[in-house]
Amino acid sequence: MRYADLVEYYQRLEATTKKLEKRDILAELYGQCSEKYLSRVVLLSSGTVFIAGEQELGIARKMMRRVIVKTYGVSENDVIKKFKETGDLGSTAEFFSKNRKQHSLAKRELTVEHVFENMRKLPDITGAGSHERKIALVNELLSHASPLGARYIVRTILGDMRIGVAAGIVRDAVAKAFGKDAKEIEHAYDIIGDYGQIAGMARLGKLKAEIRPGRPIRVMLADRAPDLKTALEKFENPALEYKYDGFRVAIHKDGNDVKIFSRRLEDVTHQFPDIAERSRENIKARQCIIEGESLAIGRDEKPLPFQMLSRRIQRKYDIERMTKEIPVQVNLFDVVYCNGQSLMNLPLSERWSKLKGIVRETAQLRLAEHMETKDFSRANVFYKRALSMGQEGVIVKNLDARYQPGRRVGFWLKVKEVLEPLDLVIVGAEWGEGKRTRYLGSFILAARSGDTFLETGRMASGLIEKAGDKEIPTMEEFTARLKKLIVAEEGKIVRVKPEIVVEVGYEELQKSPKYPTGYALRFPKILRLRPDRSAQDCATVQEINKLYKLQRGRFRKSA
Ligand code: AMP
Repeated sequence: MRYADLVEYYQRLEATTKKLEKRDILAELYGQCSEKYLSRVVLLSSGTVFIAGEQELGIARKMMRRVIVKTYGVSENDVIKKFKETGDLGSTAEFFSKNRKQHSLAKRELTVEHVFENMRKLPDITGAGSHERKIALVNELLSHASPLGARYIVRTILGDMRIGVAAGIVRDAVAKAFGKDAKEIEHAYDIIGDYGQIAGMARLGKLKAEIRPGRPIRVMLADRAPDLKTALEKFENPALEYKYDGFRVAIHKDGNDVKIFSRRLEDVTHQFPDIAERSRENIKARQCIIEGESLAIGRDEKPLPFQMLSRRIQRKYDIERMTKEIPVQVNLFDVVYCNGQSLMNLPLSERWSKLKGIVRETAQLRLAEHMETKDFSRANVFYKRALSMGQEGVIVKNLDARYQPGRRVGFWLKVKEVLEPLDLVIVGAEWGEGKRTRYLGSFILAARSGDTFLETGRMASGLIEKAGDKEIPTMEEFTARLKKLIVAEEGKIVRVKPEIVVEVGYEELQKSPKYPTGYALRFPKILRLRPDRSAQDCATVQEINKLYKLQRGRFRKSA
């Protein structure tokens, strides 16, 4: 299949905002696609070459600018200028491709297969010179592409397609193309996690998404609750469990064959032979899929910082030694399959009983701390204990709910400590993209150290909650105010006089070498403007230091 044919569909999708039309365009595309191309086209049509969680392309905008410079023989400044105008590197590449001075000698027609396979190679290029090799690979694609082809190749690689195709539309289009029910497709997706593969099965009339050990399932996710009381009130029959701050694992056992998958469905069995061994010895079911959170533990069996566990996850060699140096403990909290049967539709209360029945607990393989109560004071004691044990908080679960793979459906609610907000000063901002080119789209926040201001985080202004509220200006207002304070401009970044102080909420403080304060904020959000404060009154680096030490659950993932 020619890439140009796919590009026509991209254009049609981009030209309409109507979801039903988009679905019909995609259904037509899938319907006319040959078997050989179908799964690739389904992925590409949703703007990617990997299934969710499989891999990321790892190409930053800066690198893409260099590719454009190289491919079209233009200067970096030209690219930056055009980018500022269009807010999109895809259209920027398209523009230079139309006006190109250098023509590649032997231009050949791009096929879907070639584009797909080349893009998939990108994350595997590592080590010395990888930057240049990645640039060469994308350059090769662009030099054979038409201007429109270039637009979509660049956008796919940057993960920003702008054709308005969300997962729900792909699901409905697959259903329509092959005469299936959208629910059926969705169910298969929960288990298989790949619309490409599912489209192929649907076309052949073999849409059977069976759970079986060895085949990873998308995991159930948790929502956030503002506090313990609210979470308890949500369910008639709540259970509380420690929320361990580690690495989620799904253990698949089939006789003596044990496989371990991450939350992103990667096979991590090789990195965790100790978990596999413990599971072989201590799980009494012939076949099962169970889930838990793994933690690195010290000699006293207390959890070690997440960085230690990270070393285990990233390790490729010398695994044996690592398993001794950094032992891992798994805290099991669910079972979704046992001896030939899916347990997904059973309520948690029954799954938990089943799990208890099949696990012989050891120091390394144990059941998560679990308590069933609706009583606030009892629950609060449990919650405080979780925090004092160095865990992140608790997850409150609905004992009557089924296992819902891949989604946040509000059956699990996480409760964590909320940290005191910080008053920070805005010292810079970045012009937005796409529809937001006229606005300063993200802010650079700083804390004070003596008379200077040190950066400690960035946040997208799109994340401003309740913008336009009494206490929070709209993007236009923010932009107008900041524009008056600009002291320097480098590309899309502007530096501003430190004058505007904002109160910033965040989920946690993380150590980070990226910022001069040494700390970054996780999930920052502007709570309100502090017109009553001057830059001199904003938080100091010493205060952040203190807050970091006070931060409960000492064992955080570092940025
Ligand atoms: P979050 O990553 O903040 O959305 O929180 C959800 C994650 O908490 C899950 O994906 C698990 O990795 C982790 N977790 C820790 N303890 C538990 C538990 N008892 N039950 C479920 N998930 C848990």
